Amino acid sequence: MIWNKEFETLPRGELEALQLERLKNLVERVYSAVPYYRQKMDEAGVRPSDIKTLKDLARLPFTTKEDLRINYPFGLFAVPFEKVIRIHASSGTTGKPTVVGYTKNDIDSWAELMARTLSAGGAYKGDVVHNAYGYGLFTGGLGAHYGAERLGAAVIPISGGNTKRQIMIMQDFGSTVLMCTPSYALNIADVMKEMGVDPLSLKLRVGLFGAEPWSENMRNEIEKRLGIKAIDIFGLSEVMGPGVASECIEEQKGLHVFEDYFIPEIINPETGEALPNGEQGELVFTTLTKEAFPVIRYRSKDISRLITEPCSCGRTFYRMQRITGRTDDMLIIRGVNVFPSQIEHVLMGIKGVEPHYQIIVDREGALDVMEVQVEVSEDIFSDKVKALEGLGKRIEREIKDLLGTTCRIKLVEPKTIQRSEGKAKRVIDNRKL
Ligand code: ADP
Ligand code: ZN
Repeated sequence: MIWNKEFETLPRGELEALQLERLKNLVERVYSAVPYYRQKMDEAGVRPSDIKTLKDLARLPFTTKEDLRINYPFGLFAVPFEKVIRIHASSGTTGKPTVVGYTKNDIDSWAELMARTLSAGGAYKGDVVHNAYGYGLFTGGLGAHYGAERLGAAVIPISGGNTKRQIMIMQDFGSTVLMCTPSYALNIADVMKEMGVDPLSLKLRVGLFGAEPWSENMRNEIEKRLGIKAIDIFGLSEVMGPGVASECIEEQKGLHVFEDYFIPEIINPETGEALPNGEQGELVFTTLTKEAFPVIRYRSKDISRLITEPCSCGRTFYRMQRITGRTDDMLIIRGVNVFPSQIEHVLMGIKGVEPHYQIIVDREGALDVMEVQVEVSEDIFSDKVKALEGLGKRIEREIKDLLGTTCRIKLVEPKTIQRSEGKAKRVIDNRKL
């Protein structure tokens, strides 16, 4: 169902007029309130009054994670601090986290956008939303929580972890909608199996999964194992958190970007040049309404492309194709570009292989070596060595066919690869250590 028909189905012309009006206002606000942005714009020789059409967006300088780091923690906030009512931070596995803030209006918009997300994914008022995204500084938990409340659903704020208890609660409380990372959804499915719980005996109908990359084959696997529809949802804390773009259940083909709040662009990550619609490149977002922490042309490092063809669901917002990787998770193995998602795609398409894997990259002498460790299913593992060998060879060949580079395959026993409760860690690159 369309949560906000008025805005989500705006004719493109009206939508663009609204975007332009909001963009002008954003640039004025940021220019006058944030010295750092003002300086960058002055250096680039653009003034707020230069923004006359949407095309002029391309004249504005990009914002990068580095800009956020320089201004840690609150240097890019665009409102007096007493207007800030919430602070989040991204996980920041290395160094200081990236800090973002929200005013009351920002929280209100976020709830609206997550209500749209849930609604697009097929959730309704009256649903029981099992929210297993992590609560805390991470935007996933509270973002989904406020959206589910806005939708009028009953939220179970269970957060991540303690999987057996999660399953007990799903049974007892009758959870109908699951929200978590795709890797955690699989973990839940595994534990259900261990506990002898039949997923079809639960009331679960749909899952909204995001916060980490996943492949189409992974979606099929989750849908099959849990007996639900799996919807891809996308966001990043610098832009807001979850609720930047999401799939509609009608098509499950690309994520509608909430374009009345965010302008997406695709650029060539090397040159920074804007690419025509339909071409693949790095996603860049400009927030149109955010007050506390607006960003102008934020470089997400995520790789996607924009789909401009109309969608059968009736939404007029362009869609972004599911994220195929990040410019910074691309591995270069002996000169060949490899994205973990490509490997996942191959693995998930092979019978007998479990959806649990890890990629380990090392350097032996001057040579890069990539090893893919993947779990095999119980029955294959207890089978003859020969079957295992055949499986290993087949994976190796399919990866070679797709990527043009060789890798080692290590088939490991069921349940030996660490399970995720949030964002899965797929790659261990020992070359950088
Ligand atoms: P961190 O950078 O600490 O992980 P966030 O929690 O803000 O911070 O994570 C945002 C990132 O998560 C996105 O830039 C993207 O790489 C990834 N992500 C979020 N949703 C999806 C999705 N549906 N598919 C693929 N990647 C996603
Ligand atoms: Zn649609």
